[in-house]
Amino acid sequence: MNLKELLKSIMDNTTNNLVELTTKQVYFFDLDGTLYLGNKLFKGVPELIELLNKLEKKFYFLSNNSSKSTDDYLKKLNKFNLRINRDNLILSQHPTIEFLKKNNYKKIFLLGTQSLKNEFKNEGFELTEEEPQILVLAFDQELTYERLMKAAYLLQKKDFPYIATHLDNRCPTENGYIPDAGGIAALLYKATERMPKVFGKPNKEMLLFKLNPLGISPKNAVIFGDRLYTDIKMGKEAEVITCCVLSGEITMDMIKNSNLKPDFIISGIWELLNEFKKL
Ligand SMILES: [Mg+2]
Repeated sequence: MNLKELLKSIMDNTTNNLVELTTKQVYFFDLDGTLYLGNKLFKGVPELIELLNKLEKKFYFLSNNSSKSTDDYLKKLNKFNLRINRDNLILSQHPTIEFLKKNNYKKIFLLGTQSLKNEFKNEGFELTEEEPQILVLAFDQELTYERLMKAAYLLQKKDFPYIATHLDNRCPTENGYIPDAGGIAALLYKATERMPKVFGKPNKEMLLFKLNPLGISPKNAVIFGDRLYTDIKMGKEAEVITCCVLSGEITMDMIKNSNLKPDFIISGIWELLNEFKKL
């Protein structure tokens, strides 16, 4: 079977005619595994962003990875020479913080990095281990066993509120996968049989809260991502066009064996740039 036939057999759109990808008004990009891996930016990304700016396309960057604050994300993206402002960024902590504010939670036990703690403090929350009102689980790359123990004790209190920024099982890095927030939640589940309410991808609100105010139809938007169970699932649920990149977690075999079929498949985001260049 050649590549074309293989593509036909494993996805919704049977043409994989990439020119359609250049016609959209709104572009959503996952970050880890789609635009970069760890600290390695994929080829063509700065040029692609420049082009989207020139064409006056709307674009947004999405990440479930809550190990960094919004400020630190902007610093990282600026280091890559991507001209991106706060409005272009959608992080899993954003809907989480919105929920906490709406529900008047003030005292929080946050399983998160110092960077994320700074964002929560700046948003006016008190981070505490003493009588918190809620446990918030994020991608805590500074996790200690002592903090895990304290979280487990809280979860054994009846109906103690428990939420998570996201529940990705693992995060791709240059050297391989590392346990993500879903992995940490799995540890706590083994001890307490509790799972959190979740805000990040694949929750379609991550897309729709940007798309709806623009008054643009989901069919006029496309999401690029390297994961079926977050990026592609969310795109499908929001009825946005979906495009898998094979530069991160997803492999052809995973797509073949899944019920979630993307509309398009490309080897990496550079293929989108090439398509724009053909115009
Ligand atoms: Mg990703």
